[in-house]
Amino acid sequence: MEIKKVTERIQNDLEELARFTATPGSGCTRLPFTKEARGAVEYIKKEMAEAGLLVWEDAAGNVFGILEGENREAPCIMMGSHYDSVINGGNFDGIAGVACAIEVARQLRERGVPRKRSFVAAGFCDEEGTRFGTGFFGSGAMLGKWDVEACQRFKDTAGISVYEAMEEYGLDPKRIKEAEWRPGSIGCFIEAHVEQGPVLAAKGTELGLVDCIVGIQRYMVTVKGRADHAGTTPMDMRIDAMEMAGRVISSLPGWAREYEDGTVATVGYIHASPGGINIVAKEVQFSVDIRSRSNRHIDEIAGRLKEALEAASVACGGSYEMEQKLKIRPLHLSEELLAVMERACMDRGYSYQRMPSGAGHDTLEIGQTIPSVMVFVPSKDGRSHCPVEWSAYEDLAKAAVLSADLVEAVLCGQKTSRAILCGYG
Ligand SMILES: [Zn+2]
Repeated sequence: MEIKKVTERIQNDLEELARFTATPGSGCTRLPFTKEARGAVEYIKKEMAEAGLLVWEDAAGNVFGILEGENREAPCIMMGSHYDSVINGGNFDGIAGVACAIEVARQLRERGVPRKRSFVAAGFCDEEGTRFGTGFFGSGAMLGKWDVEACQRFKDTAGISVYEAMEEYGLDPKRIKEAEWRPGSIGCFIEAHVEQGPVLAAKGTELGLVDCIVGIQRYMVTVKGRADHAGTTPMDMRIDAMEMAGRVISSLPGWAREYEDGTVATVGYIHASPGGINIVAKEVQFSVDIRSRSNRHIDEIAGRLKEALEAASVACGGSYEMEQKLKIRPLHLSEELLAVMERACMDRGYSYQRMPSGAGHDTLEIGQTIPSVMVFVPSKDGRSHCPVEWSAYEDLAKAAVLSADLVEAVLCGQKTSRAILCGYG
């Protein structure tokens, strides 16, 4: 009974929110500080108010709804996700987590859960970074990581800065620092999100409990050889950049598979020059993206990559450069919150599995300083960041019920540790 009602409310919210897109009929395009973002925020505010929450929009364009507890000074429990989307994205990424957070507030009231502390539902602005090439703008601002100078520095492809876009949207970028929450005021953070990958759907598992957000290292590798005639240069007298690159690239997937712990390694970009069918390649450039829940495994693959480039250079007579583009350490989520969620799954009879998240999410930003946890909902065929992105409303409802169980346990739990109640900060 409960699930049916919850499912209907989430479906209604998400269908209404899907209207706020710049590309009707071609998926969701809801970039920050646009009229589509404004439409979504106004709808979220209305739903939060109807759920009995105290609503406000902060200086960064984040929207919050508070269900006040007896002690307003006590660190709150926050749950939320982002309301922006990529270009021609889906109707679930981010926004489904906002709908779930509002739904949790409704359930807490309906269950009559006594609240010592406040529960806060949040809709974050600009997680994707699609427009300004940033990422985690709203959640970052909440943590005090943005200032006026940074707002002026980042610009979209039309040359409009975050600063200008905010003014146009009706926010005062000079007040961006006011979006910061006092350290220690958020006790813990929960994010429900669609998986955006194929694992849960393929296994028929109802929910994923995210225990880790994987670390990432990215490299751009340039292998240098010599351009020669493809017909007249004997095999033992050429310095073939493609041969060198090929040896390394073909080894990479095997290194990742050896770990059998979900470690992945990808070459998603390759470019050969001069790029002629009858010319030995002078230079080959390719990208390497390595992700794992284990930082040691990432380091080891990066080390083997370097060794293999070294060996290929010696064998073929060329040279190489390996430039690191990104380095993020894995983030391990709150074991204490995970344990509560696991128990709640068993009590409810929901099938679940622990899993890492291969993508970032607001939790990657927030979880650095605040005990956090994520719950994943299956994505149909693993598709995301495209118009066919789909998750079953009933699965989202289960994520919301589970999150409400978790919040109830933390609100009422005597056994909850100081770390969860007070945050790390
Ligand atoms: Zn997202």
